[in-house]
Amino acid sequence: MTGPGASVSLKQLIPAGVCMQCQGCCRFQAQDSPWSPALLAAEQDRLGIIGSKIPLVRDDAADIWYCRYLRVADTACRIYGQRPFECQLYPFLLNRCGKSVFLSLDLHCPYAHRHQQSGSLAEYLDALQQYLEQPLVRQQIKDNPQMIQTYEGVTNLRELAF
Ligand code: SF4
Repeated sequence: MTGPGASVSLKQLIPAGVCMQCQGCCRFQAQDSPWSPALLAAEQDRLGIIGSKIPLVRDDAADIWYCRYLRVADTACRIYGQRPFECQLYPFLLNRCGKSVFLSLDLHCPYAHRHQQSGSLAEYLDALQQYLEQPLVRQQIKDNPQMIQTYEGVTNLRELAF
């Protein structure tokens, strides 16, 4: 794992092929959904996006909004190798609860739901917490407060030392 910045490479829990077969991610019920990916300032520069969120595209027929980088036909991310930090972090999220910040899990992700009690998830969680609490990473996230949001219905797993 490297520090979040212009290009992040977080070790992944979920194999890419599994994500590509799922039609849950990258689609949102509202244009201003808290679930749409927030961008680090460096990612905004890299992607040429003005604003802290990926702009969404409306699909009237399906009555949803989807990420501008989603190739709907085959559920592929057109920038998969360089997708934003928050996309790499999912199904984990940085969840604000009052003054605390939790590393949380979205059990709407079918893979996370199936593996929530697995040893591999627990091991991954340890490594992820360790990564996020490194001083440099923690500072970068603090400098990008848009990365910590409040999510409804997620499972708080670890309180982070933020
Ligand atoms: S950037 Fe890629 S992974 Fe992230 S929401 Fe868009 S399509 Fe999905």
